[in-house]
Amino acid sequence: MIEFVFTLDYEIYGNGSGLLNDLVYGPARRLTELFRNRSVRFVAFVEVAELEKIETYGTDPTIDLVRRQIEEFHRDGFEVGLHLHPQWCNARYDRGAWILDYREYNLCTLPRNRISQIVDGSLACIRQLVNCSGFTPLSFRAGNWLFQPTETAASVLAEKGIRVDSSVFKGGTLRSHHLDYRAALRNSYYWPFGEDVNVPDPAGRWVEVPIYTEMVPFWKMATSKRLGIKNSAGANGQAIAQKWSRIRDRLRFHCPLKLDFCRMTLNELTSMMATIIREDRKDPETFRPIVSIGHTKDLTDFDTVDSLLSFLKQNKIAISTFQNIYPKLAGPTLGSADVEPLGQPTHAVADRDTPGFTA
Ligand SMILES: [Zn+2]
Repeated sequence: MIEFVFTLDYEIYGNGSGLLNDLVYGPARRLTELFRNRSVRFVAFVEVAELEKIETYGTDPTIDLVRRQIEEFHRDGFEVGLHLHPQWCNARYDRGAWILDYREYNLCTLPRNRISQIVDGSLACIRQLVNCSGFTPLSFRAGNWLFQPTETAASVLAEKGIRVDSSVFKGGTLRSHHLDYRAALRNSYYWPFGEDVNVPDPAGRWVEVPIYTEMVPFWKMATSKRLGIKNSAGANGQAIAQKWSRIRDRLRFHCPLKLDFCRMTLNELTSMMATIIREDRKDPETFRPIVSIGHTKDLTDFDTVDSLLSFLKQNKIAISTFQNIYPKLAGPTLGSADVEPLGQPTHAVADRDTPGFTA
């Protein structure tokens, strides 16, 4: 059985450039409409560190609409997951530009007490954003997919109640950050883990549901939609250097192509799904949660998303969130009492008078 999970990374450019209205609020509003019209929901991975700084420094007037949008997501059954780019945590705004702290780029390489501090701050912030003091996100996606080395960050996040990760893209590498998800190619559609996100561990408190990838010949990666040529306005020297580093990561015969509903063409999306559907017909008993990724900043082609939604409907593939599929993911061991209530919308304890998150 296949269940399809749309995940949307809700953020501006990683270097701090771009406006919330153009890169976050506006595209998310259109996507939300599209999903509401079909009575389906997506997972919004909200990058809270940047929103907190934008609010503190008062750099973008759309922040109020963004806050309202996130609260609405939560109220209306869209899942709010935690996404973190820790380079924002020490950010300051100086003469019209953000100065980010790239020493803290990878949460996983920071000391345990710093990770705790960042996670606590992010959870406080996300609770204020959804206007619900008892809220704990069920799901997490690391900034730039960096969930290695896993052990310390995973243990801190699990202590706070987060249970599902969707940072892995099987077969992926990022040399500049020593990231290597090639070992995960051996794993199934999802797996429990503890100390190492690549290694299934039935005793672990987490479940990994990776961003779906297919290994393709490297030349297939270079389409204009995927290279983001249309959206290169926010690029500067550093972004170009990062792009080059990624191109080097792809100089292998086969590379992982992420199931990206913003960067793939409709034909690519439906062909990838057709392969999964064929596998499923042969073995319908296996549960296949298929995670697709998109970014608000890449979201311009709504026709493709709408056509993909039609395709999924025609093929009777349910569209779900992690909250909805968690009982199936967790199974008899992870689904035990200590995690049962987490991730459910906790309206009962909502504190509607919670002030702004910088108050
Ligand atoms: Zn991100």
